[in-house]
Amino acid sequence: MAERIDGKAIAALVRDEVAQDAAEFEKKYGRKPGLDVVLVGDDAASAVYVRNKEAAAAKANISGAIHRLPADASEEDVLAKVAELNANDAVDGILVQFPVPEQISQKRILETISPKKDVDGLHAENVGKLWSGHDGLVACTPSGSMRLLKEAGVTLAGKRAIVIGRSNLVGKPIAALLLKENATVTLAHSRTENLKERCLEADVIIAAVGRPLFVKGDWVKPGAAVIDVGINRNEAGKLCGDVDYEQAAQRAAVITPVPGGVGPMTIAMLLKNTVKAAIARESE
Ligand code: NAP
Repeated sequence: MAERIDGKAIAALVRDEVAQDAAEFEKKYGRKPGLDVVLVGDDAASAVYVRNKEAAAAKANISGAIHRLPADASEEDVLAKVAELNANDAVDGILVQFPVPEQISQKRILETISPKKDVDGLHAENVGKLWSGHDGLVACTPSGSMRLLKEAGVTLAGKRAIVIGRSNLVGKPIAALLLKENATVTLAHSRTENLKERCLEADVIIAAVGRPLFVKGDWVKPGAAVIDVGINRNEAGKLCGDVDYEQAAQRAAVITPVPGGVGPMTIAMLLKNTVKAAIARESE
């Protein structure tokens, strides 16, 4: 039976590290690292995410504000807000909560956020740095997944890893991070043939598909590490991942549950990125 990787406990550890780093930052520079969030519209789920981020930031000695814009805000309104935050020296990290209403281009927002304040790690400059091996801000869910592998003691160098899902948000950055750790990486997607066979070859499986219980237990090589990024609802409306946990845990060496695996890591890594951005800006 696999060892369960406790994402809640590891996220708490990361948040403690951040709180300590942020306190040291304040001592040195006379101000707290700042994370500002832009929330457009009144999507209930987004409002909850933003409140959680605000609470976690405050606990980690990070200051910041939430900027609420109405659902009918124009793209110019949002870009003007981003430009204002780019110019504000007290702001180290800018996060625009997605999804935004359809009249606003997500791409234009990502292009407008200063790469130095891009704590989501989605600006093309940071993506380019990641793939070319330079230090930059890395997307939070991918870096959180890597931290889980590290804490679980999983060796990556020379091992075969498969990432299922090639989104800019999750799959592609995870593939880049695994490559950086010298894993041999397969980046699978909806057109991949013989996916079960490809998974059975892998020492590490990362599932980022968005389909409930997509990865079956008999896709898992005995002794593999399994990271489940998916957040789905099953037919009964209960949260579940992309991996059939019960079956996969019979064969894997280590595995993340959903909930309580990758999920809690995302906010923790966002806070870590904020302190990193703050230190980099002060060191310029
Ligand atoms: P996405 O943009 O919808 O991407 C899904 C990927 O899965 C695509 O690359 C797609 O391939 C691939 N895919 C779909 N059907 C497939 C199939 N039958 N076989 C193989 N690949 C298939 O989703 P995302 O934003 O990456 O998110 C993925 C999951 O992670 C979702 O459940 C999301 O809720 C969750 N998530 C969790 C966190 C967290 O904090 N834990 C953060 C972000 C996302 P194509 O490119 O060919 O279409």
